[in-house]
Amino acid sequence: MSHSIHGARVLLIEDNEGDYILTKELLAQRPDLEFQLEWVASADEGLAALIENRHEICLTDYRLGTANGLEIVRRARERGSEVPVIVLTGEHNQSVDAEAIEAGACDYLVKRQLSGDQLTRSIRYALVQRSVEDKLRALARTDQLTGLANRGEFMSELDFALRRSGRGAKAFAILYLDLDGFKQVNDTLGHAQGDLLLQEVANRLTTCLRSVDLVARIGGDEFTILALDVESSRDCATIAQKVLAKLSEPFRLGGHEVLVSASIGISMFPDGGRDADELTRNADTAMYRAKKEGGHRFQFHSNEITSAARDRIDIESELRKAIAAGELDLVYQPQVCIGSGQITGFEALARWCHHRLGDVPPTAFIQVAEDIGCIRELGAWVLRRSAMDYKHWERLGLSGPSLSVNISAHQLNDPHFPESARAILEEAKFDPSKLVLELTETAIIGDLGVARSNICRFHSFGARVCVDDFGIGYSGLSQLRDLPLDVLKIDKSFVHNLLNRPKEKAITHAIIDLAKRFELEVIAEGVESEDQARTLTALGCGLAQGYHYYRPLPSAAIGELCAKAAATNSDSVRQSANVA
Ligand code: C2E
Ligand code: CA
Ligand code: CA
Repeated sequence: MSHSIHGARVLLIEDNEGDYILTKELLAQRPDLEFQLEWVASADEGLAALIENRHEICLTDYRLGTANGLEIVRRARERGSEVPVIVLTGEHNQSVDAEAIEAGACDYLVKRQLSGDQLTRSIRYALVQRSVEDKLRALARTDQLTGLANRGEFMSELDFALRRSGRGAKAFAILYLDLDGFKQVNDTLGHAQGDLLLQEVANRLTTCLRSVDLVARIGGDEFTILALDVESSRDCATIAQKVLAKLSEPFRLGGHEVLVSASIGISMFPDGGRDADELTRNADTAMYRAKKEGGHRFQFHSNEITSAARDRIDIESELRKAIAAGELDLVYQPQVCIGSGQITGFEALARWCHHRLGDVPPTAFIQVAEDIGCIRELGAWVLRRSAMDYKHWERLGLSGPSLSVNISAHQLNDPHFPESARAILEEAKFDPSKLVLELTETAIIGDLGVARSNICRFHSFGARVCVDDFGIGYSGLSQLRDLPLDVLKIDKSFVHNLLNRPKEKAITHAIIDLAKRFELEVIAEGVESEDQARTLTALGCGLAQGYHYYRPLPSAAIGELCAKAAATNSDSVRQSANVA
């Protein structure tokens, strides 16, 4: 707020209309200053207006009916009002004068002796005092070298965040950051350059963080960040990663190009500490661990969170490249007819062998692909690659089975998906009537209209659509009603409990029944034993997929299966020809 006297909004708390008119006339003696007077006649209204902090200055009567002007000043101060107040009184009284200043008033004036000049002078003085106080307050909160908040301000904001957290605010985290290599800069280039470096670090920190985050310098080359509204360790890791990247760009100091980095310790509320002490201690310890590991990295208060967050960052940063470079792989799990054991289809399942993390399960990287926006590339790659593998199996003698491909919500909601899929299949010369798209119940969110028209488009090429993991989502039945589906896949959790839980068996039975009524094909996944297969047959489900029959296999192994089956078939054809 500006503290200029010109155009100042003046709040007058005065229960006597005559005195209001008098004050108005006094202020009107200086028309050039254009005061904007607002009059309230009761103590309560006055207090309410003061708390809103929208006036530059307040004039209050000493006696307000039964209330006392000084009492209002005291209560307003307690409730955060910063408006300077001048107390007006009927007659002079030495002790009230002193009391007024103690209560937080700036001045104490006797109404009857007051001139317009005196009043203006007192207002001007109060405003000057107010801006000096503001400046002092700001100075006390600021680190002189960098202009960032200082330790005191950081601790008071941390306290505030802790108090807010009790009232349903989102989680927050603190990051302790210590520069790696600062001492060398100081020793070799001198303290002036060291100071410049700290200022530039402060600059980079403020520009790369969100405006809700508070950055402070708490000493030497130590900085802290109070990151508000972080939802997960992943959010914190993203912030830390951004800071590390920003600080690893070279600094130019007095003609030298200087490289520094940072060690960051993170503690998240409430797991990393329930109060300010514990949170800062844990962040500090984590920072030392990061430093001990060689610096230029972050550490969470717990090692488990650190490694999960680092894995996630590796996955995020490398997945896109891995897709583009064809480093992902596909395996195929056969689907069979329970009665004859014959293979009726193959489901393509994505695999990624990461150089450091080893086999990353699709449940970990599919979600990341969705989050970082490369699920379409991944989906296109899966379709192309599986269509090509399938063509290869055909050349080895395969004919008949379908090819199931999993698709995600983003693909289903993309109006261009059917056309791009068709182009891929055409290029691979793959017969689209062999294709089954598998969507999980949860994939069918978003625009139902787009989903429906995409499914219809796929039907027009002859492809079919299967609801995967049926029964565990929440919208299964309405999907059956609203969407033109072809196949229903019973989730493996029902199959696992088929033999020991009567309720799961009842649900499985109901799903199979439902599929029949909707004239859908039904298949059970996760079949691991003969007993499960027998029960499924008894309930009316004839198709299955699971470890009992085949594990997911590499393309080459499927090729061998196809070649073997083709050989057996032609043998049996030859044998029957011989018999004839
Ligand atoms: P899903 O589509 O439900 O795939 C079935 C999962 O069950 C596969 O896990 C498979 O290996 C596993 N499985 C098969 N038989 C059995 C069994 O008898 N017992 C048990 N316990 N598990 C069995 P996987 O390969 O780890 O895939 C996990 C999920 O990742 C898939 O679930 C699918 O939702 C997703 N996914 C995999 N590949 C892709 C892909 O190319 N695109 C998309 N969008 N999602 C994919
Ligand atoms: Ca599936
Ligand atoms: Ca499934």
